[in-house]
Amino acid sequence: MCAAFFLYRLLSNIKWYHKLKQENMKRIIGMILLSGIIFTACNTEIKKEEKMSTNILLQKFDTPFGVPPFAQIKQEDYVPAYKEAIQQHKAEIEAIVNNTDEPTFENTIEALELSGQLLGQVDNIFENLTSALTDSTMQAIAKEVSPLMSAHSDDIYLNNKLFTRIKAVYNQKDKLELGTEQAMLLDKTYKGFVRGGANLADKDKETLRGLNKELGMLALQFGENVLAETNAFEMLLTDEADLAGLPEGIKQAAVANAKDHGHENAWLFTLDKPSLIPFITYSDKRDLREKMFKGYIMRGDNNNVNDNKEVVKSLVNLRLEKANLLGFKNHASFILDNNMAKNPENAFDLMGKVMPSAIEIAKKEREELQKLADSEGANITIEAWDWWYYSEKVRKAKYDLDEEQLRPYFKLENVRDGVFAVAGKLYGLKFVRNTEIPVYHKDAEAYEVQNADGSVMGILYMDFFPRASKRAGAWMTSYRKQHYNNGENVIPVISVVCNFTKPTADKPSLLNYDEVSTLFHEFGHALHGLLSDCQYTSLSGTAVPRDFVEMPSQIMENWASEPEVMKAYFTHYKTGEAIPDALIEKIQKSGKFNAGFAISEYTAAAYLDMAWHTITEPFTGDVNTFETEQMNKIGLINEIVVRYRSTYFSHIFAGGYSAGYYAYMWAEVIDADAFQAFTEAGIFDKATAKSFRENILSRGGTEDAMELYKKFRGREPKIDAYLERKGLN
Ligand SMILES: [Zn+2]
Repeated sequence: MCAAFFLYRLLSNIKWYHKLKQENMKRIIGMILLSGIIFTACNTEIKKEEKMSTNILLQKFDTPFGVPPFAQIKQEDYVPAYKEAIQQHKAEIEAIVNNTDEPTFENTIEALELSGQLLGQVDNIFENLTSALTDSTMQAIAKEVSPLMSAHSDDIYLNNKLFTRIKAVYNQKDKLELGTEQAMLLDKTYKGFVRGGANLADKDKETLRGLNKELGMLALQFGENVLAETNAFEMLLTDEADLAGLPEGIKQAAVANAKDHGHENAWLFTLDKPSLIPFITYSDKRDLREKMFKGYIMRGDNNNVNDNKEVVKSLVNLRLEKANLLGFKNHASFILDNNMAKNPENAFDLMGKVMPSAIEIAKKEREELQKLADSEGANITIEAWDWWYYSEKVRKAKYDLDEEQLRPYFKLENVRDGVFAVAGKLYGLKFVRNTEIPVYHKDAEAYEVQNADGSVMGILYMDFFPRASKRAGAWMTSYRKQHYNNGENVIPVISVVCNFTKPTADKPSLLNYDEVSTLFHEFGHALHGLLSDCQYTSLSGTAVPRDFVEMPSQIMENWASEPEVMKAYFTHYKTGEAIPDALIEKIQKSGKFNAGFAISEYTAAAYLDMAWHTITEPFTGDVNTFETEQMNKIGLINEIVVRYRSTYFSHIFAGGYSAGYYAYMWAEVIDADAFQAFTEAGIFDKATAKSFRENILSRGGTEDAMELYKKFRGREPKIDAYLERKGLN
């Protein structure tokens, strides 16, 4: 077994979130975050040294395909398992350090890569379940584990003897005749150590340890506060008149929601997206729209025990201190040094190409909304909580398209089978449900992912509906990454987690179009994990720069809107009739509708992230004032609120996207350019799909992302297709 983990949990373990909905991300231990790319370690000695523990997490799993034996795991197993696995990993590292032979690629770099697999096993399960199946006990365990892992990570990065060996190998890299993947592993390992502080003086190393520990705890705190604030808001309606404007399906969902919370004859609305978005889109009750909207945007900013303003301040200041310590002028420079963008200026440059035209378009959209409100005699000035409501009305008037008209064609099971079929046509894969494979919750489904010849090449979990124990958003993650162990392929175990519209007593889960795109998006990440064919865990699957990782996911969204796909798979849940051409035409015509809003809202968040992380002096001001100033600076209009305000911007304060929210746009430029290759040759063109698989999806981070892209496209990406898609040219 070679799975190993650790330093590299960085990458492997970061979940890739959907661009619109993701929200709460996984928290990643502070240091790990910062080092950007990761490494693994692992070790062949492990079998010999394995103790006969009764802790299930430390055993070899006796389950189909070696997936985690979820039902047998007890919460009290985690902390002892972490402690034991950390000890084993330390012993493995010691063995590398004390090897009396001269350092070689095999006895140092590869040995490190192969160490820590037991810890990886424990950590993957725990980290994934703290996002998808958490409770107060899991949160308490996370707080106990975070400093242990942070210290352990530092013990490795700051181990002088270990770094001396790595450096010795690195210094002779030109003479070693390494293959592409080995050379990349050496490079990433060396740079990871440098970024982890290996070159610092002893005194600074101690400072770094303290910073990492604190950063890890603050990220946890931030995420917990957001979850608590999201769960704390409820709007219980008991007067049917308050439901004016809401579609029947939304009312039914609210009744079911109320019942779940012990209320009869009532309708319950929450800040979960499937509840919030339809409410602010359809409710005729302006005061209630305002209440829901403000409930959402004030999370973490209520001056209560879950307030995140001080947490934000501490996080940005400690990140700055850490970046300075490592020789960077700010946190963004530290992060981007490791990404395709290379520096904050390049990220700002891209945002600057987009934001001014997006705001101009948004202003025109605002005029249209105001005009419509005036024509109805509403006697209001459009505010942020009116935008969804009136833009839906404008859409109906302009394109005769009602989101609710579409839902019957987007039955979850049909969309899921549609995305399976698309993967089948492109890459020859089959998805076969297997109820023998253990799952962690009754809502989760397990699939064998098979090649055309029936051989199993991966396991895929899908877990679709919101629950109190699940963080908001949608993400893909791995329980085990693909890699080779002694020449034998170890198949990946991948999970896609969503928060989609639930079924009700008399209706199946009927998605909205945004949810359809989300499913295709996360499935794109899943394919990146499933089709991986890499030697080393720490280079496999989604272990690529953050501003490249959203490309394989975003490109999949394109197929969801292709008429050929829609007609074949999006059939009416009652009649089985294919989605009518007229409706497809309406969807396509309205494709750029509200784009000014969507792009401004997103780009504002990307700016806000970059603003927080390009500070070069400790921040002593007021968080809300800073945010307002930044938004004014880029000209964001008052009727649009930045997609994530600072106090609930979990991507950047609790997850792995600090100084990285721009990545969705960066990757979309590449995805638009890449999809053009498919539209030119045919969306299911075998040769194009084969090239995309062989040059990108199967290659993980084994080569520079731009080089991989050039192998697929024959050149660097151009921005034209992106501007065209967004209507910005
Ligand atoms: Zn994503």
